[in-house]
Amino acid sequence: MIKKQFQTESKRILDIMVNSIYTNREIFLRELISNASDAIDKLCYISLTDDKVSLSREDYRITVTPDKTARTITISDNGVGMTEEELENNLGVIAKSGSLQFKQDMAEKGDDTSDIIGQFGVGFYSAFMIAQRVTVITKAYGESMGRRWVSSGAEGYTIEEWDKDSFGTNIILDLKPDSENEDYSEFLDDWKLRSLIKKYSDYIRWPIVMGEETVNSMVPIWQRPKDEAPDEDCFKFYKENFFDSTDPVSVIRINAEGMVSYKAMLFIPGAVPYDYYTTGYEPGLKLYASGVMIMDKCADLIPEYFRFVRGVVDSPDLSLNISRELLQQTRQLKVIASNIEKKIKAELKNLLNKEPEKYLSFFKSFGLQLKYGVVNNYGAKKELLQDLLLFYSAREEKLISLAEYVKNMAEGQEFIYFACADSVAVAKGLPQTEPVRNKGYDILYMTDSIDEFVVNMLSEYMEKKFKSVFDDDLGFEVESKSEDTDENNQPLLDFVKETLGDKIHCAKISTKLVSYPVCLGTEGPVTLEMEKYFNSIPHEDGQEIKAQRVLELNSGHPVFSALKNAFENDRERAENYCHILSDLALLLAGLPVDDPSEFSSNVWNLMK
Ligand code: ADP
Repeated sequence: MIKKQFQTESKRILDIMVNSIYTNREIFLRELISNASDAIDKLCYISLTDDKVSLSREDYRITVTPDKTARTITISDNGVGMTEEELENNLGVIAKSGSLQFKQDMAEKGDDTSDIIGQFGVGFYSAFMIAQRVTVITKAYGESMGRRWVSSGAEGYTIEEWDKDSFGTNIILDLKPDSENEDYSEFLDDWKLRSLIKKYSDYIRWPIVMGEETVNSMVPIWQRPKDEAPDEDCFKFYKENFFDSTDPVSVIRINAEGMVSYKAMLFIPGAVPYDYYTTGYEPGLKLYASGVMIMDKCADLIPEYFRFVRGVVDSPDLSLNISRELLQQTRQLKVIASNIEKKIKAELKNLLNKEPEKYLSFFKSFGLQLKYGVVNNYGAKKELLQDLLLFYSAREEKLISLAEYVKNMAEGQEFIYFACADSVAVAKGLPQTEPVRNKGYDILYMTDSIDEFVVNMLSEYMEKKFKSVFDDDLGFEVESKSEDTDENNQPLLDFVKETLGDKIHCAKISTKLVSYPVCLGTEGPVTLEMEKYFNSIPHEDGQEIKAQRVLELNSGHPVFSALKNAFENDRERAENYCHILSDLALLLAGLPVDDPSEFSSNVWNLMK
């Protein structure tokens, strides 16, 4: 028996594994099972051309056997096995891409390994995270004699001839002793091992057997044809795997062949996860390479604006041993991601057209996310997302799409009219909506604080420009009751401004008011909604953003005559009117009055 040294690089990685305090050390099982599965694949492949392989497909299996007394776990396969040379080259030297990449990353990151171990197929060496000694008994296909390889870590390994009946490999792990902080014995527990197999290796194509029972399901639901995976089964799979008690709104099945082959099963959740709009929510899809899970949440597969989508992607074209950083750059992943984006959009559009009720419930949950998607990155994705937006229609009294709005536009109507307000009720009461409604035009009530930014970003839809009902020029002749001019009323308007001081930028005679005596408009780029939005997010003191408020008066209204009369005959009363009108304008715009007690006493004074 000869004692040999590990190659220097292997030694370094082994050291890391042996001394690992990494909490995810349970992945050792995934790694060893995946090696065993590969070894079976290889023998199975040989058997296609070599009829001396006496096994048939049904005979292949991987067994996992814990032994509590001996404190060992044995993982066996009847795959291709290893020759002496292969034992040396495969287990003594790091030659494989995954491990090499691991080594390079280690060099970059220094000794902080905690976050990278789990991202790699660190493979065989991961056994040393839980074992103080690893024994490999193997017999290569075509050899008459087996070999035994033993190592207790970085100091080296031994290889000797060993009797073994059949081809394949047994890996025996002698567990490290438990200590105050570390519980290795948990891996001897039957239930624990089964749950790890289910968790990481459920979809390995070969049976993984414990006792007499096969633990893994072997054919994953996303690999089955549609008639063998009815929606109910998919929903059940979703609820079990993605910790949601609500049925998803829909399931998207993808079976792609071409530049990159992959299968995917994606779900649009039916309910908003409690942490969805917080930083605690981790987006991403489960990523499998040839049936082995390589990442639990691969965020690169899903664009930010569809981050609510959950599901699984499985591709034989992805390498198992690849770091997260490298994976991000692989061409295959990018192809899959862009394909997935299109499929999700198509599914949502399909829902919108064919099952509007379902789409509505989806939109109530995740519409806000889509709106953020329109605004983010300077509108880079607005073309993709604009068809999916819904807004409240004044005419229909429900949420409608922009396409519906445009389709139902009146003869001669040029613009898509919208009104931003905190709620539908406030929007309905906005004096500015009256002339548009009277004209027979529908108005979209925009009640999310992001909406105005969405509209600014879109600027038009199907060649129809958006127009705010607050706009001075509504694009048509308004039949206003307020026909007087500012010039005729300058002394009164100056008086109003003087009385109200900083509360307003100016007062003017409205050209748009119909039945309301007053409304609050703005001048300049900052609207009232923007003012509300900016002031709701933290900002430095004294940096408050304020819209330039304009108090618009309806000169055709009896209230205006009353104001004018008071201005000419009773200045004190006129001042009182000014304050009340300004406060009423605020209330109609959905804003609080500056001083409720002053407002109240102004009204009481009137009643006296
Ligand atoms: P990787 O699987 O990433 O190539 P590992 O360190 O896990 O790296 O394994 C190194 C090599 O050892 C494998 O590529 C394979 O050739 C060989 N090997 C490991 N386990 C087995 C096994 N159970 N049967 C046959 N060969 C194996």
